[in-house]
This record gives sequence, C-alpha cells and structure tokens, in this order.
Amino acid sequence: MGKTTEHESIVVGVKRERQDSVLASDTETYLPPTPQSIRKKLPEKLPTGTESTPTRRKRQKRVPLKYRPEKNAILEVQDVTQALLDEPEKVGFLYHALTNSQRIIVVSGAGISVASGIPDFRSSKGIFSKYGGSSGKDLFDINLFRSSDKIQQFTSMIRDLSNLVERSKPSKFHHFINQLAETSNLLRVYTQNIDCLELQCPYLETKSPLPSKAPFPNVIQLHGNIKQVSCTKCHINYPLEANFSAKMSCPECIELDNVRELVGKRTLGHGILKPKIILYNEHHPDGEAIGTISEMDLKSRPDCLIVAGTSLKIPGVKRMVKEFAKAVKGCKGCVIWLNKEPPPTSITNYIENMDLIVVADCDSIPDLVSGYKDKYINKSLKTSTPQIKIDMLNTCKT
Ligand SMILES: [Zn+2]
Repeated sequence: MGKTTEHESIVVGVKRERQDSVLASDTETYLPPTPQSIRKKLPEKLPTGTESTPTRRKRQKRVPLKYRPEKNAILEVQDVTQALLDEPEKVGFLYHALTNSQRIIVVSGAGISVASGIPDFRSSKGIFSKYGGSSGKDLFDINLFRSSDKIQQFTSMIRDLSNLVERSKPSKFHHFINQLAETSNLLRVYTQNIDCLELQCPYLETKSPLPSKAPFPNVIQLHGNIKQVSCTKCHINYPLEANFSAKMSCPECIELDNVRELVGKRTLGHGILKPKIILYNEHHPDGEAIGTISEMDLKSRPDCLIVAGTSLKIPGVKRMVKEFAKAVKGCKGCVIWLNKEPPPTSITNYIENMDLIVVADCDSIPDLVSGYKDKYINKSLKTSTPQIKIDMLNTCKT
C-alpha cells in the first residue's frame, strides 16, 4: 500500500470522482471498472463559453457570382479603406464567397490567434523562443518524452501556454467564423491550433475524444488541445489543471490497480498524464474519426474553402487542403488563401491553384466584408431599390 500512497501524492490537482463507496463494499463480489465504464462518466464536450443554446440567425439568399478573378489573383490588404477603393472587384469576390457560400470549410492555423496574443512557432518573441525551439517540431515531438529534462521543459512550456490561453479572448476572425456557423454557412473548421479560443464563441463546439459516428461537432482540432491531459495507458482525458506537472500518474489506472490488488489480481501498472496535444511522430487517437469526418465533408459538396493563418507546413494538413480544394472546385466554389504571407509556388502548384490569395491580417477580413457591404451593397440598395431588404451577414465589432 506504500506504493499506492506515493502515487496518490503525485496525482494532486487532477479532478476525478473517487469510488470510495465501491472500495468499502464487499470486494469478493465487486468487478473492477473497465476503461469504457469509466469513460462514460467523464465529460466529452469541451467548454464552449456558453451553456444556453443560442438561436441561429437566418441564412441570406444566394446571389449568383458575377466576377471571378484570374487564378491565384492576389489581394494585398494593408489598409482596409484603401483596398476597398483600389480593388473593389477582388474584395467583391471575397465578399461574395464569404456571404453566399453555404457549406464553407475553414482550415486554420496559428495566424488566426496572433491577434489574441498567442504567438506562432516562428515568432521571434514569446514563449516558444523562451524554450529554445526554432520550429514546431523542436518543441512538440514525442521523442522529448525520452528525456526527463526535456519533459520538465515541455511541461513548463505547456503551463506557460495554458496560462496565456486562459487570459486570451477570441480574435475578430474567430468571431467571424462563429457568425458563419450562426447563419448555418459553415460546414466545418479544421484547426491546427491547440488554444481552443474558437470554443469561447457560442456557435462553435468540439468534442474530445471525437465521436466515431455523426453528429460530429463543427470544430475539429487536428492537433489536440491545451485544455486537457490524457493518460498514456488508458487514454482517459482529464482537464489540465493549473498545477499540472510532469509525470503525474493517471488516477483511474491507480484506482484500477488498487481494486485488482484488493481482489488478489496482479496489477497492470499505470500511465502518466500527458497534455492532449498531438506531437510529431505520435499516433493520433482521433485520427480515424478525423478521416471519417473529412470524407463526409468531401461528399457534402463544400462550396468554399478558406485556408487561414497557416503556411501549410504539415504534410497531412496540406493533403487535406488539396482534397477539399478539389471538391470545392468541383462545385464551382471559391478557394481562398488568407495569410500575412502569400503561398510559395510549390503550395499553389500542389493545391492546383486558388481563386484568391488574400495577403492580410486575418482580423482585417470582417472589416473588409462590412466595409464592402456598406460601400457597395447598402449604398446601391438605398439608391436603386430601397424597398428590398436582404438579411446580410453583419460583421463582428469586438
Ligand atoms: Zn490511465
């Protein structure tokens, strides 16, 4: 029992429901809980920032596309007002794509959270450079777990990142995606971000682990999340607590071993709790579900793909974008790149061209959409057909 006490002392800070009443009962007739029965008791849905079910805004009427730019046309936005004056056709195409498409897929990366104060891996400042990583691969590789020094360093970095995320709010672009969901124009968000910022918006939600069958949530976290830890042995998830430290043991594994010891069975050992971030060279526990969901989305005739705030350095995500782009083009939809940097030719060739490359801060997109609506749509409605009312997408002003 001395061994158990030692393990108990290092699981402090992990929320769980003890089964004291079960342990105190007649152990002769007690069957130890299976991982499946334990899992049923744990919440699968991550917090969304609201507990009420919000009512959805009406989807606007579809308007035919009047102008399509040449392949890989670039819209550079340094100043929103200037872009509206200089490039009304390209902004008009962007406006059309974002307000008329009905099954939009967003593939997002670190760039959409920069305005929220979360640095990307290549940022020269911030917590990643503090921990000496020059790339995501340096900082997030499963091989880190072979060295106890590196585990300590990784854990400190996760704690810092978690504290930063706790203080952060969704960006304008997160709210913009939320509005697409509110008007039922969003098919899915596939995010490479682990910060869960989109989940603070009322219409965006995910589940962890992902279910194997529909209904699926509208946010898919491709690389896990910073809000949970997961047991390396039984894969049960727990919330990541502020005092999380390296090598915390899994309470349920310990519980199971205690029960087995009591009934005279051999113990099975226990896993340690690891942040639920999918590391390089690590098996993805939700990989199969993500495959099922993306297959389903490919068959759902997506009509717009927005690749936002990512340079598509991860091969799996790049392949996914290529497939989505192909499906969108098959529906005569719009493929849009949105990032501070234009894509290299290798990416445009791989994806076989995009309809519009928007070189801008992601947060300027809501302003571009509302600016275009005010300058060109509302104005023409007022002067020509004042009796017509169209329920246009409102931009967020956060
Ligand atoms: Zn476990």
